Amino acid sequence: MMSNNDVVMLGKANYMNTYNSYPLSFVKGEDCYLIDADGKKYLDMVSGIAVNALGYNNRALSNKLKEVIDCGIFHTSNLFYNEYAVSAAAKINHLAESKKVFFCNSGTEANEAALKLVRHYGSKSGRYKIIAFGHSFHGRSYGSLSLTGQEKYQKGFGPLLDGIEYAVFNDLESVNSKLTDDVVAIFVEPIQGEGGIVKAEKSFLEGLRAICDEKDLFLVFDEVQCGMGRTGYPFAFQYYGIKPDLMTLAKALGCGLPIGALVSFEKGANVFSPSNHASTFGGNYLATAAASVILSYLEDKGFMAHINEVSEHFETKLNELHSRYNSLIVEVKGVGLMKGLKVSIPPSQIINNAMSKGLLVCSASTDVVRFVPPLVISKKDIDMAFDILVEVFNECLK
Ligand SMILES: *Cc1c(COP(=O)(O)O)cnc(C)c1O
Repeated sequence: MMSNNDVVMLGKANYMNTYNSYPLSFVKGEDCYLIDADGKKYLDMVSGIAVNALGYNNRALSNKLKEVIDCGIFHTSNLFYNEYAVSAAAKINHLAESKKVFFCNSGTEANEAALKLVRHYGSKSGRYKIIAFGHSFHGRSYGSLSLTGQEKYQKGFGPLLDGIEYAVFNDLESVNSKLTDDVVAIFVEPIQGEGGIVKAEKSFLEGLRAICDEKDLFLVFDEVQCGMGRTGYPFAFQYYGIKPDLMTLAKALGCGLPIGALVSFEKGANVFSPSNHASTFGGNYLATAAASVILSYLEDKGFMAHINEVSEHFETKLNELHSRYNSLIVEVKGVGLMKGLKVSIPPSQIINNAMSKGLLVCSASTDVVRFVPPLVISKKDIDMAFDILVEVFNECLK
């Protein structure tokens, strides 16, 4: 078997230079724990960046995927229907009380689909402009990169898509100042992820809802990171009690299988017609079977109660860290199991130290340590993370 170092060396020799990966490779997992190729165990509060909602070696997920493997068909294209995809779509529409779903393979593709939908709608009235926000993140393909209001992602890749305006997050005045007659949609993350775990204020989202209603604009919630149970509700829009017109999903929707979805409520349900948009792999058997499993969990009130219970415990523990280490921790951020610690030292210092002690966390923006653990995490796991973080922060004080 390959050691960590073997895998890292082979990766460095053969990968394009797009990632600053840590020199680790994992070979086994159970619940919220991973074991690396050298046999060291880690508590994982990254979970593939908010992807592995059911952790590792989840029975229900493995059994469902085995069922698909045994049927021996993984893909038949959208020239045909398949049971797994239609079931997953029905579950989303049931849980979100939405109308129609389009499946693709990633978050960026879900946002591309949303972009195309709103522009197609706007083309009838000559409207094409879109308002997005500073510090947002919507993906890396040209459309979603154009929506992403952060120079560090866009620099050196222009010209980008025309007609995107960036307003200030949580600032309705700034949105109003960008509102012209050719605007057709507003794209927003209810809780910004990459931007540093920044919660939208409820009044801000309510204001956006009102603007969109008044001007016949699409309100698009990018729930790629904050959706799928992380807020203690199946979707972040339910946490806020504010319904968008379109919602994009990915990350935890596949629990590790690549999938994205564009979800429409009343307004967007009938904009596309055949040949307007498509995806070869969208709705494939394995990815949609995985989606059905996590969606069944989200339908379970007991599971949602679990998320809320551990979230509260986690919040208490993070607040305790904040008060103990208030020279290092500036603020506790986020909602539910999408949390962050804004810190006054480089997050990498904390991340690397925690990693050496068997805890995986990652950064968000330049000054936030991000926690997006599997939703199946227990209070005991959280206590263990707390103990490790105490050691880490103690050493940072020295
Ligand atoms: C991760 C992310 C994306 C991009 O998803 P990919 O699957 O990497 O294309 C889009 N929006 C948000 C909010 C994200 O966190």
